[in-house]
Amino acid sequence: MTQSVGVIGLGAMGMGMARSLSAAGFSVAAYDLSAEAMACAAETGIVTHETPAAVVAASDAIVLSLPLASHVEATVEAGLAAGAFSEPKIIIDTSTSEAAVSRRLATRLADLGHGFLDAPVSGGPQGAASGALSVMLGGDEQWVARAQPVLDAIAAKVIHVGPSGAGNIAKLVNNMLVACHMLTTAEGLRLAEASGLPAEDAMRVINSATGRSALSEIHFPNWVLSGSFDSGFSAGLMRKDVRLALELAQESGCAMPVSELVASLWSEENSGVSDNQDFMLLGRVEAGTKEKTNG
Ligand code: NAD
Repeated sequence: MTQSVGVIGLGAMGMGMARSLSAAGFSVAAYDLSAEAMACAAETGIVTHETPAAVVAASDAIVLSLPLASHVEATVEAGLAAGAFSEPKIIIDTSTSEAAVSRRLATRLADLGHGFLDAPVSGGPQGAASGALSVMLGGDEQWVARAQPVLDAIAAKVIHVGPSGAGNIAKLVNNMLVACHMLTTAEGLRLAEASGLPAEDAMRVINSATGRSALSEIHFPNWVLSGSFDSGFSAGLMRKDVRLALELAQESGCAMPVSELVASLWSEENSGVSDNQDFMLLGRVEAGTKEKTNG
């Protein structure tokens, strides 16, 4: 049974997951490129290591929470090169990553007796900190069963979607919809305001009617209409998701005319929101308001 868990990547999501695992009684080893994140983790009793390979060596299960698929691949390869995979281990990759990379790593590790699950998550930093994420899994049943105690500590909902890569695909479809809902909800509220109905009043109706979504129920009230714009998810990471969804569409020969327009509106140039700002700024109701012209 898994007792020691590694967490590599201690950002908005990884730090919360590491703490949830620690609170659930696991001994947690961790690594991040940022010395600040490492110091912050150490303050809460998490054992930090000098290299990601040392975290892999010290752990039965390793949770990854990294920005890009290339970081995931490099981390696993570094662990293999350092001989850190001596005992059978399972990698639970919660990063929003790419199906092709997950399949490649799952095959490579399976040949050596290790497991790799693509396990992207939804629920934001708040869900990570409270152990209440939703996880969408891709991979073999035997590894899903093996990962269950770790998943129980970080998630309220676990959906085994299908074979390796299925979790990544589901996550990209989900986040492409989030990107669309962000812009359509802002546009709807803009129409309400322009027509004399305050956005808050329109929102009360939307959330009791059929135009609602997670964005209208959670994100807009908490982080847009409140004016805080601090959901903890960067516009840069969301742009990555939109880009990956469109790349997937291209590979699959799937036409995505609405999503293509949304991607162009999401660009730094068109939105005026930079990669390191919170993605909720894309929902600003006043942004893009056109001046009324006579005639
Ligand atoms: P973040 O930018 O807050 O944190 C990423 C962390 O990874 C940083 O601390 C950084 O120093 C570290 N890092 C980068 N490269 C590294 C490497 N090679 N080795 C070790 N550490 C490295 O990002 P986040 O918001 O926590 O997102 C992490 C992943 O989770 C991303 O794939 C993101 O798309 C996904 N995600 C984020 C959210 C959210 O709401 N923030 C929700 C769902 C999924």
